Amino acid sequence: MAAQPEDQFKNVISHAKEYGFVFQSSEIYDGLSAVYDYGQNGALLKNNIKEYWWRSMVQLHENIVGIDSAIFMHPQVWKASGHVDAFNDPMIDNKDSKKRYRADVLIEDHMEKIRGKADKEVAKAAKRFGESFDEAMFRETNPRVQKYVEQVADINKRFVDALERNDLEALRNVIVDEGITCPVSGSKNWTEVRQFNLMFGTKMGSVAEDASDLYLRPETAQGIFVNFLNVQKTGRMKIPFGIAQIGKAFRNEIVARQFIFRMREFEQMEMQYFVRPGEEMKWYEFWKEQRIKWHKMLNLGDDAYRFHDHEKMAHYANAAADIEFDFPFGFKELEGIHSRTDFDLSRHQEESGKKLQYFDPEVGENYVPYVVETSIGLDRMFLALISKAYEEETLEDGSTRTVMHLPLPLAPIKAAILPLTKKDGLPDLAREIFDDLKFEFQVQYDEKDAIGKRYRRQDAVGTPLCITVDFDSLEDRTVTIRHRDSMEQERVAIDALSDRLRALVSMETLLKKL
Ligand code: ATP
Repeated sequence: MAAQPEDQFKNVISHAKEYGFVFQSSEIYDGLSAVYDYGQNGALLKNNIKEYWWRSMVQLHENIVGIDSAIFMHPQVWKASGHVDAFNDPMIDNKDSKKRYRADVLIEDHMEKIRGKADKEVAKAAKRFGESFDEAMFRETNPRVQKYVEQVADINKRFVDALERNDLEALRNVIVDEGITCPVSGSKNWTEVRQFNLMFGTKMGSVAEDASDLYLRPETAQGIFVNFLNVQKTGRMKIPFGIAQIGKAFRNEIVARQFIFRMREFEQMEMQYFVRPGEEMKWYEFWKEQRIKWHKMLNLGDDAYRFHDHEKMAHYANAAADIEFDFPFGFKELEGIHSRTDFDLSRHQEESGKKLQYFDPEVGENYVPYVVETSIGLDRMFLALISKAYEEETLEDGSTRTVMHLPLPLAPIKAAILPLTKKDGLPDLAREIFDDLKFEFQVQYDEKDAIGKRYRRQDAVGTPLCITVDFDSLEDRTVTIRHRDSMEQERVAIDALSDRLRALVSMETLLKKL
């Protein structure tokens, strides 16, 4: 039987640790909250995700280039970008449990609960009416569902309004009026709502008096904006063009939970696309489509994704949508696609006094370009993959195996080379195969334990192929390839191995589908 979502999530977390994917940072000192390290398999998986993203952006698009900017930036950058004044989350404490929450998250979760009630009504009716059930009609006409829908709409209106006016008291009133309780104490004994800036501060320089205050960047995007002209000029880029970057970002999250979903140190993969003003909506739609395609190519199931269009925008955006993913704890943001207008470049132009404009030869005009960005959290993508890939499978013979159905080109190890026994020259031939394949593929040699046990070990880390070298191999130079998901086996000539592997597990096979 399939595990409950909460159990499934716990199992994924412990599996990630047991098999060298993710460790708590500084674990021997009892860990550091919301900071994680990637182990030997995790680092490989993470690199493969990066490669899939980077190549899909930089290698497949003539007009997108990649950069790698520093984490430290001039403090004025964060003034100009609005982060010093506005990169806040509203926080609220429960006086009984002493637990701290994000006020907006409490309200969003509350609305999600009510939506869940409506969905339950729909599910009940669907069962009752069977095939003839018309869900759209039922949602529109059923009084109970209607009541829930209206309730959510009312709360949402007050919520968005309070956020837009930055009215912390109004935000608190929503919590109080809706009778939202603390999940830990169950009480409604709330403090005021306060703003909390999420940037980590630090100092640069060795002498206290001369040291200047810096921030650890809370997003990678600003490194791209301040380099806009450098890249445009040196790369002779013509609008529209994009700049991509993968790098660390730091946020002092109020509530860090759900494993690597919300971390204080994490990695982003961002691409800023510079366009002609007035054309941003076209490109916004274009990138929404491109990005959902990139996700769906991984075959985790099309219904694992949905778009959520924002009503309340960040301070810089005129259109924004999230790609939400069906995590074990529900649908949550995985990636954001934002139309950022000319906000950032204009602000940097004002703050620095340097022109950040582009001369567009086609229209014969100078202008500050508009920006459409795609921004995905690498760690969240990692979590999406491992939580969907993980399965405790019951086999036909009643036995069970734990298997990670990772997309083949992203799997940490592409193939394991397994000599059937440790003697009679089998290890020599297996080593020969290993030494041949290792230049192109991440492969692993393993001769310890019975073959079945070795298969299970590879299943658990998601290795798509096990190559077994047996006695026949010595005679006819063929080997058995055992496939992870189907567990089917095929016999392949040793000379044909790299071609076979390339066809099955190479990144190119995936990129060509985009
Ligand atoms: P959230 O609403 O979940 O806090 P956000 O809207 O602030 O996220 P963005 O600023 O749009 O996020 O950042 C882009 C992407 O970076 C997000 O879609 C997410 O994948 C990732 N991300 C943001 N914050 C974190 C975090 N604390 N830990 C891990 N990934 C994060």
